[in-house]
Amino acid sequence: RRNLQQLQERTLALIKPDGIPYMGKIIEAICCSGLIIKQLRMCKLSRGQAKDFYKAHMDKPFFEELANHMSSGPCVAMELVAEDAIAKWRLLLGPTSTEVARMKAPSSIRANFGTDSTRNAVHGADSYDSARRVVTYFIFI
Ligand code: ADP
Ligand code: MG
Repeated sequence: RRNLQQLQERTLALIKPDGIPYMGKIIEAICCSGLIIKQLRMCKLSRGQAKDFYKAHMDKPFFEELANHMSSGPCVAMELVAEDAIAKWRLLLGPTSTEVARMKAPSSIRANFGTDSTRNAVHGADSYDSARRVVTYFIFI
């Protein structure tokens, strides 16, 4: 995989409901970074879809809050394509907690547009398998 697919890897980027007011700036940051937006759509997740999307976190104390937030308004889903797109997008979006992002990665998207640990503006798949799962997920809902 590394040799063949790293050349044109794809990943999912999601602007979460709290990031919607900054969607223009977030999309600009993506385009400036060399990641190519291959598909883009706006959609609103139901609470059930939000829980399914984040099912890996179902045992975490923040799961209910996360499901509530993700279904509180529209999201923008994007398929990003580039060499090493998964890692590139994770680097651009920054650490999970907005506070940590502001300290350790002040130019990241979460540092600039996040609010707290749950409302952190954007999502990015963190592995090849999760990228494949969630890109498919958002193309078909
Ligand atoms: P990431 O989005 O950086 O991959 P995780 O996969 O660990 O982070 O968590 C998924 C999402 O759950 C985060 O983006 C954030 O919205 C929320 N979250 C994670 N950790 C916390 C926390 N400690 N408190 C509240 N919400 C959290
Ligand atoms: Mg994650």
